[in-house]
Amino acid sequence: MDGAEAAHRAAARIGDVLSPRRWALWGQRPGLVAYCLLVDLVAVAVTVAAAGRGARTWDLVILGVLAGLAVLQAELGRRIERVRRLVSDTPHINMTSVWTFAGVLLLPPALVTALVVVLYLHLGTRSLYRIRRAPLFRVVFNAALVVVTCHAAAAVLAVSGVPSMYAALEAGWSGVVAIAIVTTAYFAVGALVTVPGLTVKKRTFRALFGGLGDNLLEVATLCLGVLTALTLATLPALAVMIVPPLLVLHRAVLVKQLEIAATTDEKTGLFNTTGWHSLATRELHRAQRLPQASFGVLMVDLDRFKRINDQYGHLGGDAVLRAVAGTIKGAVRDYDSVGRFGGEEFVVLLPDIRETDVRTVAERVREAVAGLSVEITDGSRAKVIDGLSASIGVATYPAAGAALDRLLQAADKALYSAKSGGRNRVVCIADVG
Ligand code: GH3
Ligand code: MG
Ligand code: MG
Repeated sequence: MDGAEAAHRAAARIGDVLSPRRWALWGQRPGLVAYCLLVDLVAVAVTVAAAGRGARTWDLVILGVLAGLAVLQAELGRRIERVRRLVSDTPHINMTSVWTFAGVLLLPPALVTALVVVLYLHLGTRSLYRIRRAPLFRVVFNAALVVVTCHAAAAVLAVSGVPSMYAALEAGWSGVVAIAIVTTAYFAVGALVTVPGLTVKKRTFRALFGGLGDNLLEVATLCLGVLTALTLATLPALAVMIVPPLLVLHRAVLVKQLEIAATTDEKTGLFNTTGWHSLATRELHRAQRLPQASFGVLMVDLDRFKRINDQYGHLGGDAVLRAVAGTIKGAVRDYDSVGRFGGEEFVVLLPDIRETDVRTVAERVREAVAGLSVEITDGSRAKVIDGLSASIGVATYPAAGAALDRLLQAADKALYSAKSGGRNRVVCIADVG
């Protein structure tokens, strides 16, 4: 992108921001719009309520140092973040709580809001170009969530009788306990206020509150926030030492997400060939250790898919592939692994299941695909694609083979038989011979 084009895009984006009618917020589901406005309003209200408390000059110095370190960390982490966003859809990894939580422990609450505003202004404007950007309402909403979390934590601190890190240093063990409680409060409130703003398909605990890794990252970030506050309250010049470990933490997140990206099919979010094979190999080894174990493999191929592409174009075809992926996942158990082997061919691993039940599951998958209708927008018109069908080949361990490639070959042979038998059917290798 050359300079003139970048400037032009930035100007267009500023134009969008300045005309409320064009805000992306209004295109969201009503519940999310209401929640965003509520959180924004509460963030402003708590800040106004806290504004009466006077600040010392030293507080302003600390505010400046925290804001400076936060901007330094964000700038030094830009390359890591750019790569991370290429491989992951998660809009941003929020390690800013190092600074905001340190702010809670050191500053009057109104200044914590000022800190959050500086951080998110920086994040928002720096992601204006080059890094894939988040819509404005998301940046404001995320900032407001942080403000609400910070003020809730500050309120806990106020009632604990140890109002700041400075007081904790004087208070001995009760200071330690107060800091531990407020850390827990920040973590809990942060998790709870985020939930209503999430758009998740299944309301599982993991989808709402993140996996173990996400939560450990948040805990690590808050711990660094405590250490930052402790350093600033004792030997402020050493606070800069927090930045390198933070960058290493950021890089660790990137490595984890690269790992996920390497085993995920980008188009559908299912496992790719590599990911599915490694899971299937693990399942095979598990089954080999147990005398009575068995597992199933389904090879699912959409029927006459070329016609869908011919009729609705490649993008229409892609929408069907995504919908079929979701449908197959919905038709099997949570611990079954669904992969895409490229094209319109899917594969399902069904651990710990009897041979007769594998056939039932395959039939359920076939019916689910047959019942699917996919809405696509072709230009400005909405269209519905239905009448889909899939042929499925089934093989089970150990009857159909004791090695993974033998099982896949068997399922493929059964699939071929389903195709030549007229399509839209399930064939088990045991019936083919
Ligand atoms: P059959 O019932 O025998 O399976 O017929 P089919 O048309 O489904 O099978 P064939 O293997 O002849 O065609 C598969 C088509 O899938 C051809 C290819 O263009 C299309 N395809 C492969 N990968 C993708 C993809 O990622 N997106 C889209 N939209 N189409 C794809
Ligand atoms: Mg096909
Ligand atoms: Mg095929």
